[in-house]
Amino acid sequence: MSEIKILHMYADMLDLYGDGGNIKVLKYRCSMRGIDCRTDIYSLGDETPDFGSYDVIYIGGGADLEQQHISSDLLRHRDSIKKAYKSGTFLLLICGGYQLMGKYYRDADGNKIQGLSLFDYHTVAPSSRRKRCIGNIVISTNITGESVKVVGFENHGGQTEGVKKPFGEVLCGNGNCSGGKQEGYFEKNVIATYLHGPLLSKNPEISDYIISYCLGRKSGEKISLSPLDDRLENKCRDVMLKRLLK
Ligand code: GLN
Repeated sequence: MSEIKILHMYADMLDLYGDGGNIKVLKYRCSMRGIDCRTDIYSLGDETPDFGSYDVIYIGGGADLEQQHISSDLLRHRDSIKKAYKSGTFLLLICGGYQLMGKYYRDADGNKIQGLSLFDYHTVAPSSRRKRCIGNIVISTNITGESVKVVGFENHGGQTEGVKKPFGEVLCGNGNCSGGKQEGYFEKNVIATYLHGPLLSKNPEISDYIISYCLGRKSGEKISLSPLDDRLENKCRDVMLKRLLK
């Protein structure tokens, strides 16, 4: 039986707007196909995990304060996380997690939170807490090889600049910068995004992209997953698309 191992980092501290649901969706979509999906949780004070043994490393979003609290612990693991990513472990990073993999995040109080510098971007929040990017968001991405509209919810002060390859183009909402055109950061084994939602429950194609990537990496073969009945998920998304893309 094929297996996917997920490391959910700081699940008790970085989890906004149902981010934890992303793991549930990955598990569900694996189980429907007879794929074993195991999740380990790592948080402050836990034994150091063997990062490279995981197929997916997942970090959700959080408030500035939580990001500050976990930052030195995260930095402690920089080399091991980088090694895992370089060897092909998939990184799924939402909002606060996305910001912390860049060079730094300067929060609304002006505190500079050092990132892991895995990627070249950096993030700065305006000093006014009122200037936040909040609301539903729709982007268009072609990471699956086809153009897919992805819906989510964003709530961030941080403005991310210096992204080389975005996850998608903004059709409605803000994305990396207020009023901007680009959303998130993408590599074949990285999805870093401002989309909460949770992202994967609203957009099953993105889940399947991750599952296929992980299985393909292990087997060395191109994976085509058996289709699931996504009528309900697609209906929900259609309602949002109709409402947001007038
Ligand atoms: N605290 C960060 C910001 O405001 C991240 C927020 C989040 O994860 N939703 O930009």
